[in-house]
Amino acid sequence: MATRERSWAEPYKIKMVEPLRMTTREERERALVDAGFNTFLLRSQDVYIDLLTDSGTSAMSDRQWAGMMLGDEAYAGSANFYHLEAAVQRAYGYRYVVPTHQGRGAENILSKCMIQPGDYVPGNMYFTTTRAHQELAGATFVDIIIDEAHDPSSPHPFKGDVDMAKLDALVERVGPKRVPYVSVAATVNMAGGQPISMRSLREVASYCRAKGIKVILDATRAVENAWFIKQREAGYERKSIAEILLETCSYTDGCTMSGKKDLLVNIGGFLALNDKDLYDRASNLVVLYEGLHTYGGLAGRDMEAMAIGIHEAIQEDHIRARIGQVEYVGERLAREGIPIVKPIGGHAVFLDARAFLPHIPQTSFPAQALAAELYLDSGIRSMERGIVSAGRDQKTGENHLPKLELVRLTFPRRVYTQAHCDVVVESVAEVFANRERVRGLKMVYEPAVLRFFQARFEPLPL
Ligand SMILES: *Cc1c(COP(=O)(O)O)cnc(C)c1O
Repeated sequence: MATRERSWAEPYKIKMVEPLRMTTREERERALVDAGFNTFLLRSQDVYIDLLTDSGTSAMSDRQWAGMMLGDEAYAGSANFYHLEAAVQRAYGYRYVVPTHQGRGAENILSKCMIQPGDYVPGNMYFTTTRAHQELAGATFVDIIIDEAHDPSSPHPFKGDVDMAKLDALVERVGPKRVPYVSVAATVNMAGGQPISMRSLREVASYCRAKGIKVILDATRAVENAWFIKQREAGYERKSIAEILLETCSYTDGCTMSGKKDLLVNIGGFLALNDKDLYDRASNLVVLYEGLHTYGGLAGRDMEAMAIGIHEAIQEDHIRARIGQVEYVGERLAREGIPIVKPIGGHAVFLDARAFLPHIPQTSFPAQALAAELYLDSGIRSMERGIVSAGRDQKTGENHLPKLELVRLTFPRRVYTQAHCDVVVESVAEVFANRERVRGLKMVYEPAVLRFFQARFEPLPL
C-alpha cells in the first residue's frame, strides 16, 4: 500500500519569541521617503518581515546560546579558538584557520596576501565585497561563469559552473603568472544562489594545478551547495552533506568564509588555508586589520557559537528544511505566474524585475523600484540585486549593465514560519497585480564604493 505523502516541517520548536511590529501604509510611505527608497536605509523597527539578507540574521540554537556562556575571553590562545579551528579542520578539511570578524575581513587579508597590482582574478560571477577587495589590491576581476548564469529563465541545474573556455582564454591572454588564484563561489549569490557542480570544481582544480594557479573557495554557502549536489548530481545521492562538503573543499587551496550565512551565527568568519607560507603571511596581516590570530576581531563566545554552528549546519534535517522553505515560497510564486529566477536558489527567491516591470528601463532601476513597492505594500523588506549593486566600471566610470536585474527575497535560517512565507507570497502577488502603477527611480545620491548600501533615490513621474 502506498503511504500518503507527509509535509516536511521545521526540525525545531520555538523556545523564545521576538514580537513583530506591523505598520500602516502611511507610516511606510514616510519611512520609505526618509530612506531615500533604499531598503538598506530603512529602520528595522519599521519592517514587518525582514528578507533583506540571510547574513547574521539567523536564529541561534539553545546549544549555541549555551556556548556563548563558555566564552574564554583571553586575549591570546582562547579555548574557543581551538574549538573553532578543530571544527573547521573537521568539516572543511583545511589545515590552517585565521578567524576574522566576518567574510570581508577574510577577503581583505587574502587579497592583500595574494594579489599584485596588475593581476587578474577570474571568478564564477562577482560578489560585491569579494570583488571590491580584489580591486582595492590592484586586480581586475574577470567573470568566467557559464552563460546560463546570466539568463534568469535558463533551467540549468548548476548555473554556478565555470566556463573552462573563458578561464583558459584569460590565462592564455595574460599568462598564468598574472592569475594568482581562481575565485570559486559555492553557491553563487549574485546568480541567484545557484550551485556549482562537483564536476566543474574538479575541472577547475585540475586545470589550475597544471598551471600553478591556486583555487580559493568562497565557502559562505558551501553547505547549501552540497545539498544541491546531493539532489542533482549523479553519484552523490547517497553521500552525506558532510562528505560532499569535504570533497568540495578538497579541490581548493583555501577558503574565505562568512559565518553569518551557513554557520548560523550573528557575526564571525574565517580564512582557511592549506599552504603554510600563505598562512604565516595571513596570520601576520590579521593582527593589523582584525586582531590577534587566535581571535581575529571576534569575542571568544562568538568563536564558540560558530564552532557549534558548523556542527549544526551540516545536519541533513537542518539543510533540508532551510532550502525547503525557500523552495516553498519560490514554487508558490511561480504558480501565481510571477517571474522568478529558476531553478530556485538556496538562500533566496529572486524576482526577475525586468519581466515584472517591463515598462521601467534598466537605467531607471526597476529592481530598486520593485523592492520599494513591496515594502510599501506590506512592510516586507527585500533587496536590489541589479544595476545599483553592479556599480560602475573602474576604468570607464560607466554603469555596469548586468543582464540580471533582480529583487532578492532572502530567508534567514530558522527565523520565519510557513505562515510568514504565505504572507510574503500574497504581498508579491498583490504588487504584481498592480505592477503597471510602479514608477521608476532616479538616483540622487551615489556613494563612491558599494553604492547599493547607501544610495538614495526619488521616484520618477509615471
Ligand atoms: C556575505 C557574503 C560575503 C561577505 O561576507 P560578510 O560576512 O558579509 O563580510 C562574501 N561572499 C558571499 C558569497 C557572501 O554571501
